[in-house]
Amino acid sequence: MSEENKYFEKLEAEKKARLAKDLRETREREALAARKRLHWLKCGKCGADMNTVVFRGVEIEVCPDCGAVLLDQGELELLAGKDQSGVFQHLRDIFKH
Ligand SMILES: [Zn+2]
Repeated sequence: MSEENKYFEKLEAEKKARLAKDLRETREREALAARKRLHWLKCGKCGADMNTVVFRGVEIEVCPDCGAVLLDQGELELLAGKDQSGVFQHLRDIFKH
């Protein structure tokens, strides 16, 4: 095989690898988006649609079926007020990745 052919073959292989990578990334993004659509504002315990309610000025999600409560980051502290015991700091440390 001539050097020129090798060169074009290498280019072709690189192009295929790039396309395969793009396809993989697109599929991963779509899978993530589909998962988000599927779980968005669904109860993590029973799968029912969560209701948004305002509790002490904080919007929280409450499950109408099982009563589970979903809090966004920081809402636990907002609801608890100034925490003296450090319990919430401990909780945050536990759930920190
Ligand atoms: Zn539920």
